Amino acid sequence: MIIKPMVRNNICLNSHPAGCAVAVRRQIQYVKETFAGGNAPGNDSPKLALVVGCSGGYGLASRITAAFGYGAVTVGVSFEKPASERHTGTPGFYNNFAFENEAGKAGLITKTVDGDAFSDEIKNKTAEAVRAAAAQAGIPAKIDLIVYSLASPVRTDPKTGIMYKSVIKPIGAAFSGRTLNMMDGTLRFANEEAATEEETANTVKVMGGGDWELWIEAMEKEGLLCPQTRIVAYTYIGPEHSWPIYKNGTIGRAKEDLERACREINGKYTANGKIAGSWVSVNKALVTRASAVIPVIPLYLACLFKVMKEMNLHEGCIEQIVRLYRDRLYTGGDPEKAPSVQVPADGQGRIRIDDWEMREDVQKAVTELMNTVTPENVFAVTDILGIKHDFLEAHGFDVEGVDYDADVNPGGEGI
Ligand code: NAD
Repeated sequence: MIIKPMVRNNICLNSHPAGCAVAVRRQIQYVKETFAGGNAPGNDSPKLALVVGCSGGYGLASRITAAFGYGAVTVGVSFEKPASERHTGTPGFYNNFAFENEAGKAGLITKTVDGDAFSDEIKNKTAEAVRAAAAQAGIPAKIDLIVYSLASPVRTDPKTGIMYKSVIKPIGAAFSGRTLNMMDGTLRFANEEAATEEETANTVKVMGGGDWELWIEAMEKEGLLCPQTRIVAYTYIGPEHSWPIYKNGTIGRAKEDLERACREINGKYTANGKIAGSWVSVNKALVTRASAVIPVIPLYLACLFKVMKEMNLHEGCIEQIVRLYRDRLYTGGDPEKAPSVQVPADGQGRIRIDDWEMREDVQKAVTELMNTVTPENVFAVTDILGIKHDFLEAHGFDVEGVDYDADVNPGGEGI
């Protein structure tokens, strides 16, 4: 089968198995090279990592770094589809496939659980997978790193069976802002009505911290946590001009709930030494399947990438996560001290790897650039081609070294 990208409104409807595999191998290569260069893991490095949302974006980078940077056994959870007669598989399906292939070749132990992470069934299956992976590796069944990296439009509450949908809308007042079509460079005004109270509450149900807490509770009940367990979930804050649609909107409300959940987890488990600590990490804005559909964000990204590349500060998911582990979560530190006091965090206990994005000089330059973009100059003054590339690459397209005119097996075998 010959597969070309099918993109509508910043949503890509298909994916390329070989391209996904090459992109995964590049991330692995980056991690191997970075950790070979004198950045050897400290004695507090992860040995058994659980990544919920492991198949794309930040979660995939988190799994790759734990496995190939630290040699950890990894258990990943994601919800992906293999190819059918009429459709290719989802990118995450091919990413998992490629990750497992490479891990197998490197002698790394991995288990991937496929299904709805919000369900009790998948939490139980994951506990079994953790025990099986630990037994295979000959190590205790104790998870010392949990990364929670889900981005989902819907969640079915396991207790009530009710399905909730998330929306990306402002709260209190309608919002209008310029947004960019990454494929053709057209700019348009995106208008979003204010969310209803119900829509806001539903978004918190889906993208808030409720399910994260259930995961930690489930792993604790199964006896899989230990005093070394570090837990992290990802959030975004961004510049003030995006706050009406992001930080002060429905998704921001859900992220506030994630921070609430983090405090709860620390109160319940860190305070009595059951785990080492739980953090919310504020990450950089990047092009992933989830972020491409947020109004205004693509234009911001096109300007941000331009500025950060010019300043030599640009990072992708894998560079961000390597920095998160190496310079924040696992700094080696003093083994006598609790990790919570050694993980650099802001006044509210959050890890900041958005520090370079949020630098004053970066934001000033980005705001100035955003104000000068027109339909005529968008290709010349912004990095629209860079974000278009990253977007396509997240689906296995536009990856250097891949022959897109060649026949490829949509099942994924042989990639
Ligand atoms: P992504 O779409 O690339 O990955 C989402 C992952 O969640 C995939 O592995 C997918 O399989 C999994 N998933 C979704 N629904 C699931 C379900 N029901 N059961 C099991 N797995 C499911 O998303 P991303 O952009 O990497 O986002 C991950 C986290 O990082 C989110 O919390 C997001 O808010 C945060 N974040 C993203 C950005 C950004 O710019 N992309 C910036 C900062 C923080």
